[in-house]
Amino acid sequence: MNTHPEQYVSLALMTSSFAVDAILTLLLVFLWLMHRQEKHAVLWGAGQAAVMTGGLTWFAGAGVLSPSVRLFLCALMLVCGMAGYYAGTRYFLGDLRRRHWRAIGAAVAVATAAFYALWEWHAPWVPPGSAAALGLVMVWMGMRLYRAERRYRLLGCTLIGRGVFNLVSAATLTPEWYLLWFAGTSLLKALSMMGLIYAVQDEIQQRYARTIDSLSHGFLIRDRRGHIHVANERGARLLGFEKASDLVGRHLSEILPRLTPAMVDEYFRRFEAPGVQYPMTETAVVTLHTGSRLPLEMAGSPYIERGRLYCLVQLLDISERQKKDDLLKKAARIDPVTGFYNRHALSEALAAEVARCLEADRACVVLFLDLDKFKRVNDSFGHDTGDDLLCQTAQRLFGVLGPHDLLARFGGDEFIIVLPDLAPDSAEQVARRCAEHILAALSSRFLLLHHAIGVSASIGAACFPAHGSNGDMLIRNADIAMYEAKKSGRGALRFFHESMNAAAKNALAIDGALRGAIEHDEFRLVYQPIVDARTGALTKVEALLRWHNAHLGNVPPDRFIPVAEDSGMVVAIGAWVLEQACRQMAAWRGGPLEAVTTSINVSAWQLADPSFVTLVAQTLAHHGLPARQLELELTERVLIDDGGHVLGVLDRLRALGVSVSLDDFGTGYSSLSYLTRFQLNTLKIDRAFVMDIEHSDRSNSLVHAIIAMGHSLGLKLVAEGVETAGQAAILERMGCHYLQGYHIARPLAPEALDAFALITSDAPV
Ligand code: C2E
Ligand code: MG
Ligand code: MG
Repeated sequence: MNTHPEQYVSLALMTSSFAVDAILTLLLVFLWLMHRQEKHAVLWGAGQAAVMTGGLTWFAGAGVLSPSVRLFLCALMLVCGMAGYYAGTRYFLGDLRRRHWRAIGAAVAVATAAFYALWEWHAPWVPPGSAAALGLVMVWMGMRLYRAERRYRLLGCTLIGRGVFNLVSAATLTPEWYLLWFAGTSLLKALSMMGLIYAVQDEIQQRYARTIDSLSHGFLIRDRRGHIHVANERGARLLGFEKASDLVGRHLSEILPRLTPAMVDEYFRRFEAPGVQYPMTETAVVTLHTGSRLPLEMAGSPYIERGRLYCLVQLLDISERQKKDDLLKKAARIDPVTGFYNRHALSEALAAEVARCLEADRACVVLFLDLDKFKRVNDSFGHDTGDDLLCQTAQRLFGVLGPHDLLARFGGDEFIIVLPDLAPDSAEQVARRCAEHILAALSSRFLLLHHAIGVSASIGAACFPAHGSNGDMLIRNADIAMYEAKKSGRGALRFFHESMNAAAKNALAIDGALRGAIEHDEFRLVYQPIVDARTGALTKVEALLRWHNAHLGNVPPDRFIPVAEDSGMVVAIGAWVLEQACRQMAAWRGGPLEAVTTSINVSAWQLADPSFVTLVAQTLAHHGLPARQLELELTERVLIDDGGHVLGVLDRLRALGVSVSLDDFGTGYSSLSYLTRFQLNTLKIDRAFVMDIEHSDRSNSLVHAIIAMGHSLGLKLVAEGVETAGQAAILERMGCHYLQGYHIARPLAPEALDAFALITSDAPV
């Protein structure tokens, strides 16, 4: 280089050009360091740094480095610079693969060697050669970027310009033109480097935009006054706009017209409240500017920028979720078998109805309905048939209800009907009428899968406010009333009464105490004599159960037997009675009571037990007793409930030799059909008829008719509850065979019965 004065200018230009290079290079590297993702920035930066080092080596290395080293370094730096630009651009365009590195490495080695050889041969070619080589790379880069994306066109043009300038100057470059060349190249270099920095920055921006756009939620940033600063595409579409840019800059009240400034402000103020948990999630149904309504979940988090509070809001369209929730909620309220309300839904609806009635001074009625033979249908024909029966029952019930009445399956075979909004003084009447319609609707036979079945129901009723102040109480009391209805025979309706509650509580206490009664040896049997009406001879005794409990005292069988029947404990108790009675009969062997028949009371549950006949046979055999000495007393209800089963059991018992008597005749349905259908041995006329026989013509003629009918059917007749000699005389005259009652004897302990037997064997009544 000559020491021309212009060289100082050129040196100054060169220095400033290197300084710009250095700053821009550092900026690129800095951008890379910030995110560690923009590798193209570091590649471009490295490229620029290499070119810069090459230039420095050329201009400052003269005389410092040996010519060959200087030339070699210039060649290496130039080639590395080109490689950096090349690789950075390919990386930026997503076109750089791992395998390319090896090719680039090889190209760097070959090109370095080529340039070095060229420049060794003719050193003045270093500046134009470098300019030409760099120019080519710049043109290539510019064209790639220009073609890649619209927004990079300007950058592409700048790079092409820089490249062309380099190529042109390479051809014309002489020391006289250095000044201009430096000025031009520095300007274009600065421009192109700024363009590259812009590309990196833009990439970062794009990534941020893509990230928020790829969110599955809508996203926006709003300021305190309610202006939107940032939004993503999904958020825009959710709120009824086409693009995110349509949202930016708008006020929330333009987007959601129902939102008042006060509401916008209020939302923000909640962020400032102490102890708020973020994100602050809430759901709301918003009205969009298009007029449509949208259920949204909004999760807001605060964010501070330059001392100002902003709010990041995520928006989620929850209309699908709400639909599913609604479906689930509906499913949770509907009984899957009948399609009507379930227990849960009914409780809710009833609570609401009670609240309404309370406010409006109105009444409502809860009808608790239980199918009488459902368990048997289920057991005999299977659950599908059972479900079919429930379904048809629900349909029939629905058919008789008014449009505002509620119907629910409460569980098993229990249905609840709520008659809402009634006048307090006519509520009971309305309920009675409705129950009648229900019972009538259920009275015709049900055509089930392969069977036709007759079903009856028992209904308990409780009125608001008379029988309960809330839904739960009404249901409980209607249930208690339903049990009373069941006890009084099938197909009945009972209204709740306070006394039933006491009875129910009592039943609960009895139930608890009964569970340990056998183990604690709390039972004993007493025997009531049954004598021949004509001779007064003791022919039979009825074994009657007595229970003494430490807490409850003596509990009469009328109270504890129904409880034991409800819980099924009566089967075990009945087995104890059978065993005890047989043991007693065995003990009487060889005494005056040896030939006496003992009758025991048997409940429906015992007969339904498949092992009952075997148990009877085994117990008799165990005590060595003839079967004819045992008689079983059944009530009419046992026979009415029959589905064919009892008939078979009675046949087997008769085959065994055990006789069967029908207890309490006249109190139940008194249907003659089962007197002929079931081959019974004895009829026991209920004491209710015997009681009035002396004074009431009606009772007298009724008993007369029963006795006559018994005779015609070949049955033996026992009159129960004979308390006076007059009654005994009338009955004897009427042809009643046997008498039982206080007039003859009270139920006696076995020892007392021995004494009684001794007396009666001498003195007829
Ligand atoms: P039931 O089988 O009709 O028994 C007759 C009931 O009438 C007995 O009451 C007896 O004490 C009572 N009685 C007898 N003569 C007279 C009389 O002249 N006047 C009056 N007012 N009552 C008289 P108890 O022992 O209280 O039994 C009541 C019911 O309890 C029985 O009626 C029977 O249905 C049931 N029961 C008793 N023991 C058993 C048992 O071991 N098993 C089952 N399943 N039920 C039983
Ligand atoms: Mg009896
Ligand atoms: Mg009786």
